[in-house]
Amino acid sequence: MAFEGLTERLQNAMKKLRGKGKISEADLRETMREIRLALLEADVNFTVVRNFVKTVQDRAKGADVLEGLNPSQQIIKIVDEELTKMMGEEAVPLNKAPKIPTIIMMSGLQGAGKTTTAGKLALKLKDEQNARPLLVADDVYRPAAIDQLQTVGEQIDVPVFQLGTDVDPVEIAKRGVAHAIENHNDYVIIDTAGRLQIDEALMGELKNIESEVKPNEILLVIDSMTGQNAVATAEGFNDALDITGVVLTKLDGDTRGGAALSIRAVTDRPIKFVGQGEKMTDLDVFYPDRMASRILGMGDMLSLIEKTQKDYDEKKAQELTEKIQENSFDFNDFLDQISQIQKMGPLEDIMKMIPGMANNPALQNVNMDPKDMEHIKAIVYSMTEQEREDPDVLNPSRRRRIAAGSGRPIQEVNRMIKQFNQMKKMMNQVSKGNMSGMENMMNA
Ligand code: GDP
Repeated sequence: MAFEGLTERLQNAMKKLRGKGKISEADLRETMREIRLALLEADVNFTVVRNFVKTVQDRAKGADVLEGLNPSQQIIKIVDEELTKMMGEEAVPLNKAPKIPTIIMMSGLQGAGKTTTAGKLALKLKDEQNARPLLVADDVYRPAAIDQLQTVGEQIDVPVFQLGTDVDPVEIAKRGVAHAIENHNDYVIIDTAGRLQIDEALMGELKNIESEVKPNEILLVIDSMTGQNAVATAEGFNDALDITGVVLTKLDGDTRGGAALSIRAVTDRPIKFVGQGEKMTDLDVFYPDRMASRILGMGDMLSLIEKTQKDYDEKKAQELTEKIQENSFDFNDFLDQISQIQKMGPLEDIMKMIPGMANNPALQNVNMDPKDMEHIKAIVYSMTEQEREDPDVLNPSRRRRIAAGSGRPIQEVNRMIKQFNQMKKMMNQVSKGNMSGMENMMNA
């Protein structure tokens, strides 16, 4: 399968980070070195690799510690996102003409899969859009090419327009489009000639067809098995023609995958489809994000990472709610909340995540100064574990000790403890009220 080697190497590179609570610069450098080698080995273009590695490295270094994700998960996420970006981020649909027919011109080297892809595309349009495509046989250099397209046309029940091998390809293209207009075909797919290598005569001919029929879409068909050559070919065609999309064929084969990863970055043209087999149905819309997960071979891990990120706040809020309902909210939870708040945003917003709190009038005046929070933290830090877990033991002598320890006036310590107790009581009442309210609703 395509990408096998790359997937394995990328996984190995990142496996070493697993289970590490913290990733050092040296760990990161080593991982990035392995990722770089893995990509180069998979025939990804050198410049593309260099830019990729730099971006991932910068992002990994600058990454904030995301709650709920361990460092290796964060790096996997960054690698996945950057791989996706490298391939174009979003699927790009076929261009469509404002009025029918939409003219699609296939281009590419001989053997890349133009004729096959022309047929696959016609079938796709027919099946998915109920379209009435017309195939145009415009490769006059190989008589077998016309036969091949006709065979394909019969197979998928799509008409093929042809004028044999003695007519100029520009003329055939023009008359093919005229034929489509007469017959109300909504798509014209022109199968042009290829050569074994890019040559001027071929490019000249393709350019002439382009300027004569003005295709809405010029698809460049690239054989993904051809490694670095795929990129050079794409550049050559892209220089000569106004390529609007790329089709990568033979991704079902044993390709190392470099073409898929480099073409977008090098040509700035979107990959629109991938061919993944010889059957007429083996053509798929190209989704960069899905391809990235496939390359990383970490589909499950990635969805887990997404979920962890999404659910984190909710989960914490849920735990907090339970504590409040059990009236076991203590100074450790309080401290935890303050740290969270400082990371996540205003206290008011956090409180609103607690069920039943959002519309509570008692919350209207909650307003906390960041400096106050630091003072509160200092006070809690000066408590013993027992005092934090059981605030009821906080007698005057303990409070004096805490004041001295935290460097805050005793009045402030007293006020803070009082506020804590009020808050705890209030939260408990609200949560209970909320619960019975919910029950009423359920029983109604
Ligand atoms: P053309 O010269 O560019 O028109 O290329 P063809 O359409 O004749 O394809 C060349 C060969 O590649 C044929 O044997 C096709 O069956 C094969 N081919 C094309 N696309 C794919 C693909 O996505 N997967 C596989 N496995 N083979 C393909």
